[in-house]
Amino acid sequence: MKAFHRLSLSVQIIIAMLVGITLGLILNHLPASHTVDVYVTEGVLDLGGKIFISLLKMLVVPIVFVSLICGTCKLSGGKQFGRLASKTVLLYIVTTGVAISLALMVAYLLNIGAGTNAHLPTNYIPQTMPPLKQTILNIFPKNPVEALAKGNMLQIIIFAMIFGSAISLAGEGGERIKNLFIDLDVVIMKLMDIVLKIAPYGVFCLVAAIFARLGFGLIKQLAGYFVAVLLVLFMQLLIVYPTILKLLGRLSIVPFFKKMFPAMLFAFSTSSSSASIPVVLNTVEKKLGVSESVAAFVIPLGATINMDGTAIMQGVATVFIANSYNIHIGFSGFLKVVLTATLASIGTAGVPSVGLITLTMVLLQVGLPIEGIALIIGVDRLLDMTRTAVNVAGDSVIACVVGKSEGALSMDTYLNAE
Ligand code: ASP
Repeated sequence: MKAFHRLSLSVQIIIAMLVGITLGLILNHLPASHTVDVYVTEGVLDLGGKIFISLLKMLVVPIVFVSLICGTCKLSGGKQFGRLASKTVLLYIVTTGVAISLALMVAYLLNIGAGTNAHLPTNYIPQTMPPLKQTILNIFPKNPVEALAKGNMLQIIIFAMIFGSAISLAGEGGERIKNLFIDLDVVIMKLMDIVLKIAPYGVFCLVAAIFARLGFGLIKQLAGYFVAVLLVLFMQLLIVYPTILKLLGRLSIVPFFKKMFPAMLFAFSTSSSSASIPVVLNTVEKKLGVSESVAAFVIPLGATINMDGTAIMQGVATVFIANSYNIHIGFSGFLKVVLTATLASIGTAGVPSVGLITLTMVLLQVGLPIEGIALIIGVDRLLDMTRTAVNVAGDSVIACVVGKSEGALSMDTYLNAE
């Protein structure tokens, strides 16, 4: 055990994950046993995983709130913030647009789902998309305490930025409060170090429980869909992101992926970009060298509004469902999918399986039956893990590119070997 703890945290997490997957698959293949189910899978493993996720979530609101206030105090004013915000949002929209277009193209070329011949449901209750006005209104907090208590990320971002600006403008009193937040920032980072000590055990429990429940059985039935989603996720990760890093940021690719790998494993095992914020933020700031004022804004915002991996699943799923029901959605349908999937993720928290909920909006826009989701739900948990890793990688790519363009990225830290 001592030797295990001497390894770096990333290596510990990789080992924990591999052992967890192996144990999960063994449990899945054992003859059905009530005792194993109740005491191991839904007992110890489920409990261990849930405690770990709770501890991570416990960190999210304090970290985002405090680092964003510290970051805003360091910004040089409203103009710099305006530039930072518009660049970030624009890049988020473009990367999601590229992701979903790629997904639609690949799924269309591979004719995913053709020959399934699913029967159209006779009656289903459609979900409606919240009106744009409401989505915008929901970004502004009426009650900051409620926003913090509920973990409403967009409202917390807005409140922290206004609060941070007020601190900068408040003279001597503001200076005292600023120092308080700077000290709090240090304490919260220590808090994170403490929680990270149990990360390998948490990751082990999470993946072991998932693989014990699911195994690989369902994947065989939906192999075409499963492989198509994975293929596009890897295209986004290994072609689109490196291109953006190189072309827009003039940044080397290898350090990015090497340093992001543990954070992506975190996202993979928790299936939640929101719960991964503390780890991703820490990686982007401390290992990739993006300044706090940029990272503390770009990362939590991305966890809420930028979900490239999720958009990819939605693109492939739409074509799969359309083909399964033999419904032709045409080019205008594709355009609607791109638009809806890009907009639908704004304001939805990065939590497990939220992509399936927003998929209902996408299907609705192109007149496909929502019941089609039942066709793909069996493999969604495993895809959710993978797409969440892509989601956080996408946020971090933009953080580096925007950081570089704002002169807020330390090249020494970025290139430094760990
Ligand atoms: N689990 C994903 C995330 O947290 C969202 C999804 O695709 O369901 O980023």
